[in-house]
Amino acid sequence: MSTVFDGTVVIVGGGVAGLVSAQLLQEAGAQVVVIERNETIGGLARSFRYDGFSFDCGPHRFHTENPNVKAYLDRVIQGDGTLFPRRSEVYFQGKYYRWPLHPKNLVQLPKPMAARAGIDLVANTFKEYQIDNFEQYVLRQYGPTLYEHFFRGYSEKFLGIHPRETHPDWAKVGINRAIIDDKLQMQNLAQLVKSTLTQFNKVEIPFLYPTEGMQQAWEKVSAIIEARGGRILSGVGARMEGQNGRVTKVWAGEESFEPSVVIWTAPITLAMSQLGLEVPHLPYLGLLLYNVAVECDIPRRYQWCYYGADDIVFNRISVPRFFSESTVPDATSTGLCVEVTCMEGDARWEHAERLTDWVVDDLVKVGLIPNRRVVHDVWVERIPESYPIYHKHYPRDLEQARRGLATFENLHLAGRTGMFWYNNMDHSIENAMQLCKRLLRDAGRAEIEEETLAAGIA
Ligand SMILES: Cc1cc2nc3c(=O)[nH]c(=O)nc-3n(C[C@H](O)[C@H](O)[C@H](O)COP(=O)(O)OP(=O)(O)OC[C@H]3O[C@@H](n4cnc5c(N)ncnc54)[C@H](O)[C@@H]3O)c2cc1C
Repeated sequence: MSTVFDGTVVIVGGGVAGLVSAQLLQEAGAQVVVIERNETIGGLARSFRYDGFSFDCGPHRFHTENPNVKAYLDRVIQGDGTLFPRRSEVYFQGKYYRWPLHPKNLVQLPKPMAARAGIDLVANTFKEYQIDNFEQYVLRQYGPTLYEHFFRGYSEKFLGIHPRETHPDWAKVGINRAIIDDKLQMQNLAQLVKSTLTQFNKVEIPFLYPTEGMQQAWEKVSAIIEARGGRILSGVGARMEGQNGRVTKVWAGEESFEPSVVIWTAPITLAMSQLGLEVPHLPYLGLLLYNVAVECDIPRRYQWCYYGADDIVFNRISVPRFFSESTVPDATSTGLCVEVTCMEGDARWEHAERLTDWVVDDLVKVGLIPNRRVVHDVWVERIPESYPIYHKHYPRDLEQARRGLATFENLHLAGRTGMFWYNNMDHSIENAMQLCKRLLRDAGRAEIEEETLAAGIA
């Protein structure tokens, strides 16, 4: 079995997992090449820059409880970042509420609804549920009232499949992801009521954000890789060839590499098709970003807000200015990053530009801008593979994919897209650290601990 020191380590994908793996292995003395399909590195955590505006792919901020990930981020960001408290909201039946819910907002909810949700809470203690899909999970945890009014519509609008066809993991991860606060207990209606009424949910935990936008972090990482002799090839898709249980060649355009080790962070399904394996049903969701520049202030102060209603085209809006003022060209301009989900190749994806007027009209409808005239520009971006779709049978299909790819002894899957994993950046960083530790141990360098990797190997 070849190790990371027996030749070139090829890393497919220059997102968080790929770049962090490349940096850590390069620092440990391996020779690395990163191949990235897009012109820009950063993957789902990249930014788009135009006319003095910077937009991420939806709201992106660093949040972690892992001390090694924290140490790594401190080392990379080197003070070029700001810690700020979270301010997120949800737009529900024509009104804005703080999200996660706050006592003040619970009182503002329509009274019949609040009463029915309370009755659900009591009734649920006597009910039995067979939890094999999203619908059953949410009914069990929150009751039918909140399911009908909030979770069902948002989930169906977001994923494009019925909650009965969605795996309960989507609810578990998705609800946590929307909340991201370990102090908040909102796993079910009883906890939600308790933590809300006891005022325990002051969501003041600060997030870290790079001053110039998320892209700044990845530019710093790529500078470290290249300064140590690593290569980053962008704007070219990688293609693998395999034989006798090994990846024997990886192509980047006309150039090819015979890898000692391959770290694959691109779609798991693409790895399977390139290596001639039967591809199971593991679809990814596409995301359309309408990056809207407006010449005015906006009446809300949220960093991001969820829009679940099905008469509004978008799912979420984020406002980069409230992450860092450096993301706008001047104090009179505001950028709005508007997210619409779809499937790659469907009508929305193909004709995304045609939705622009609808997006702008809905911005007026939800009270964010006064009229169309304040819109200075709209840039449309298509983001493939933005979320793995956890359909009802995904664990079976994922297991098939993992087993098939495990027969290639020098191939290692990593990251969100490579592992079909609904995760966050800190998870991809942690995953890269653990993988590098394992690869270095296989190469006889077991003394390199995760903490050493995080702090940097001098
Ligand atoms: C809308 C949205 C909001 C988010 N908000 C947050 C947040 O606030 N905080 C947070 O921590 N996380 C957030 N995340 C999650 C975060 O973006 C991901 O966890 C992280 O970026 C995943 O990085 P990765 O490297 O594992 O995967 P990816 O970013 O998917 O990297 C895979 C890379 O492989 C490349 N690739 C694909 N095919 C090929 C090929 N054939 N050859 C070469 N390269 C290829 C892709 O272009 C991509 O760069 C959010 C995600 C989304 C979609």
